[in-house]
Amino acid sequence: MSRPGDYRLVNGTVIDHLPVGSAARAMDLLGLPREGPVTVGINVPSPSQGRKDIVRVEGLFLEKHELDRLALLGPSITVSIVRGGKVASKTVLDVPQRLVDMIPCRNPTCITNAEPVVTVFVREGERPYRFRCAYCERIARVAKT
Ligand SMILES: [Zn+2]
Repeated sequence: MSRPGDYRLVNGTVIDHLPVGSAARAMDLLGLPREGPVTVGINVPSPSQGRKDIVRVEGLFLEKHELDRLALLGPSITVSIVRGGKVASKTVLDVPQRLVDMIPCRNPTCITNAEPVVTVFVREGERPYRFRCAYCERIARVAKT
């Protein structure tokens, strides 16, 4: 007999090593639930991280732009693709070199806040990364990635 918390993926995606408290944000970013069942673990013990959040979604395979957004939630988010009940691939997300139309610029006089211009931020340095506005050079405020 399986219990409700034991739901195992057959074909879908596991988003693991989310920082504690970011599961809801991840679901919001991805517009979950869409079709299949979603199971969410919050404040789950993790050998490497202390505590983490985890989201498992049956029937969902993410697009590149969705992975890029997820990558902004934390430094070591892992996405596993499950097919036929087995992990087919596992990837630690990296943040893209350029964030296009993903985060707002917090400089009130930046052109992106005055004109219909999409924001562009350029990644700098090593982890934790900094992101600089391509228009006004203001550093963005994002989670530690
Ligand atoms: Zn700016």
